[in-house]
Amino acid sequence: MDLGLKGKTAVITGASIGIGLAIAEGLAAEGANLVLAARGGERLEAEAARIAGTYGVSAAAVAADVATVAGTEAIIAAAAEKGGADILINNAGTGSNETVMEAPDEKWQTYWDLHVMAAVRLARGIAPQMKERGGGVILHNASICAVQPLWYEPIYNVSKSALMMFSKTLSTELIKDKIRVNCVNAGLILTPDWIKTAKQLTAETGGNWEGYLQSVANEHAASKRFGTPEELANVFVFLSSERASYCIGSTYFVDGGMLKTI
Ligand code: NDP
Repeated sequence: MDLGLKGKTAVITGASIGIGLAIAEGLAAEGANLVLAARGGERLEAEAARIAGTYGVSAAAVAADVATVAGTEAIIAAAAEKGGADILINNAGTGSNETVMEAPDEKWQTYWDLHVMAAVRLARGIAPQMKERGGGVILHNASICAVQPLWYEPIYNVSKSALMMFSKTLSTELIKDKIRVNCVNAGLILTPDWIKTAKQLTAETGGNWEGYLQSVANEHAASKRFGTPEELANVFVFLSSERASYCIGSTYFVDGGMLKTI
């Protein structure tokens, strides 16, 4: 299936590892040029160079913190330098661990800036570029936790839920400019971060990190397995394309059967 993504320009945040990197590769494999963002410049630059070399596309690396105004401005400027973006993937984010009773205001603010304000600021800067180019696609990587919370990360649950609502609201505002906005809620996706956590948690009890991950999958996902970043990236790539032309203002679950409601 030709997805028609050749020559499009895609901005992807959190693109140096894990899901964001898989989305970057998926879009590059379809011929899209990339503007990749993450805080750590060294890894990002290495991945951008590797992807550009592998797929014959251009890939710019922007070392930027999306939770700050300056960071989002740098990303918007990098996209403008490429002549504007056609696709924006708001992917940067991270889990949390706290209780409502104990977490300070500052922690709530940090996650609000990372999960919500980054998307707000990037939409404000990049949607006008898309409009000028005749339309575009904005995708938000929220989480199944936006609707089915995990007890140990209330701030993550709440901020991802807000991102999901932002996505819906933005969609209504931007569809007149031919910009399709959607949200993706993933379940368990096996990224290096999950492996690192599993190794840490099992270090003092025999080191069976694979067994730990299997127990997590058994507990949460009907499929009893984690998804791969590539399995999730495939959905982002499809939603980025004209083949998904009637997908507007929705949230798509990619969770291996983790969602417990219809
Ligand atoms: P990783 O921790 O593997 O990667 C996160 C990426 O985001 C890195 O490139 C990191 O680079 C970047 N990043 C983090 N904070 C910032 C910041 N403030 N500014 C710019 N870049 C940042 O995460 P995953 O790939 O696992 O997750 C990606 C997204 O998917 C997240 O939003 C997460 O909530 C969501 N998700 C993940 C699931 C999973 O099971 N893995 C399930 C459901 C949703 P650097 O540190 O250098 O900035």
